[in-house]
Amino acid sequence: MIKVAAVSGKMRLAAYLALFVASVAMQGGLSSASPYTGVVAQFQVVISVLITLLCSFWGFVVSFAANACLFVFLITRYFMLGDQNVLPGVVICASTVLVTAIIGKYKKVVGTQKDAILDGRLSLERKCAEAQAAEERAAFLATHDEATGLANERNLRNRLAGYVSGQALETGPCGVLLVKVENMRHISLVLGSRFAVAVLQALSKRIEPLLGQDVCLLSLFRHDTFAMLFADAVAMHKMSSDILGVLQANVVIKDVNVKVGVHAGAVVDDGRTGNAEQIMQCAELALLYAVRTRCAEVVVYDESVARAEKRRVEIIAALDGALANNEFSLVYQPQVDVLTGAIKGAEALLRWNSRNLGSVSPGEFIPLAEETQHIATVGRWILDQACKDASQWPEQWTVSVNISTVQLLNDDFKSHISGALSRANLDPQRLKLEITESIMIDDMEFVNSLLSDVKKLMVRVVLDDFGSGFSSLSYIKNIHLDELKIDKTFTQSVSGDKRSQGVLKAIVRLADELGLTITAEGVETQCQAELLANLGFHRLQGFLYGRPMHTVELLKLVVQ
Ligand code: C2E
Ligand code: CA
Ligand code: CA
Repeated sequence: MIKVAAVSGKMRLAAYLALFVASVAMQGGLSSASPYTGVVAQFQVVISVLITLLCSFWGFVVSFAANACLFVFLITRYFMLGDQNVLPGVVICASTVLVTAIIGKYKKVVGTQKDAILDGRLSLERKCAEAQAAEERAAFLATHDEATGLANERNLRNRLAGYVSGQALETGPCGVLLVKVENMRHISLVLGSRFAVAVLQALSKRIEPLLGQDVCLLSLFRHDTFAMLFADAVAMHKMSSDILGVLQANVVIKDVNVKVGVHAGAVVDDGRTGNAEQIMQCAELALLYAVRTRCAEVVVYDESVARAEKRRVEIIAALDGALANNEFSLVYQPQVDVLTGAIKGAEALLRWNSRNLGSVSPGEFIPLAEETQHIATVGRWILDQACKDASQWPEQWTVSVNISTVQLLNDDFKSHISGALSRANLDPQRLKLEITESIMIDDMEFVNSLLSDVKKLMVRVVLDDFGSGFSSLSYIKNIHLDELKIDKTFTQSVSGDKRSQGVLKAIVRLADELGLTITAEGVETQCQAELLANLGFHRLQGFLYGRPMHTVELLKLVVQ
């Protein structure tokens, strides 16, 4: 319809222009060739009036302009060449301009009736075309993502709802696979939203060829997640690893190379999961679990996923107010000298006895306390309490406190330490801070200046769980450390495993070269203790020497 209106408009304009040229040619030719006669004058007036009347607004413009131009031409001729013949033409042109002007004004009532019908029809056609296009677009946007053109979440949910209600006993279980593209927000912020859309489009093009007839719909979910609805869950299982595989490769757009990570969650609906809403919820929970645990494979929803996520929510809720309710306590695990077996200090380990959840293990709640920043306030309490308890111990004993990266990066960390030391009146040299290798993934220069600042307080810094995570050894020589503490997995593999002993031997040498004390934790047997002593470890810690205990219990060990 837009096309029709456009063609009609063009034809009308062409007609006006043709009349204009004809008018100028006729009127100009006649008037300059010979003096004006009554016929010529009448011809000029008639054609001008006709154009004005028939062709509406543009007719009026053409007619008016033609007569005005002719008037200028003739008057110039009169003044420049003294051509007396043009004088009647000048008068006729002037009066025709006047007549067309009057008609033009009057025509608003008469002439526009036809035009109004034509214009009205055209504008109606245009409006209809626009309305239809808008309607089509709205219908498309209701079911598709505007930027990528992929089916949207609503479309997916509707399709799933229809599928679930219609599936009954006809086919086997269906499946929903969600594949989240990590760092899309980052890509969008750094390289622009258009680039991010292009990345998603490029990735969807990789998925499409893999999807056979088994897939009902490929859609975009929450801006960064591909959602696929499979009619056949078996096909989903088969295809999902291929889908993850094709998404691993970097995306190159206009010479810009980006790395995208993916995580995937899926649900299989055997008709018992519930309605479409509940199926999607399960798929999302599985995806959440995959993202959180950084699982490289597809996590398929089951009861254990649901339980883990529920527990997580409960722990996060229970952490609020736990400190105020005195639900935390500290226990201490002794560390002994490898040669004499005498206690040289103890490591403070946090315990949480929640009012609602009962006893929760640190392995479970500390990562959540870090995630929710609760560790900042709890960490301050730990430092205070550990220093206070240690101030009651024999003077040669040290106290080791585990420090989360979140705490260490806190601006007030140094003042927390000095505050805790001065409140407990504890010698700074008796405090050891246990940090983990995870801190090393941050800006090394920054971490180093932070640690050298902390060390100005005269406290000691221990690298905990050494060898368990980040592999680069280069940082060891640069950062300000006093002690290495090897992970208990090393300790526990030392007996009977020659290769592990070889690695430990190398670590001990490294520590010696760098002048660091070296401690082994997780010592459970006499055999392990002897092997570690022979390898050159300085201190040992583990169930062999004592389980984590309250400070009162620990003090009893002094007497023995
Ligand atoms: P970690 O710092 O490596 O602590 C040593 C863990 O090994 C403790 O577990 C301890 O009970 C356990 N352990 C000690 N000796 C043995 C042994 O001979 N055999 C075995 N199998 N295990 C042994 P726990 O208390 O459950 O703490 C787990 C982790 O939670 C700690 O690992 C530490 O990363 C974190 N954590 C504990 N307390 C705190 C704290 O106050 N602050 C922070 N930020 N993290 C803490
Ligand atoms: Ca530790
Ligand atoms: Ca450790």
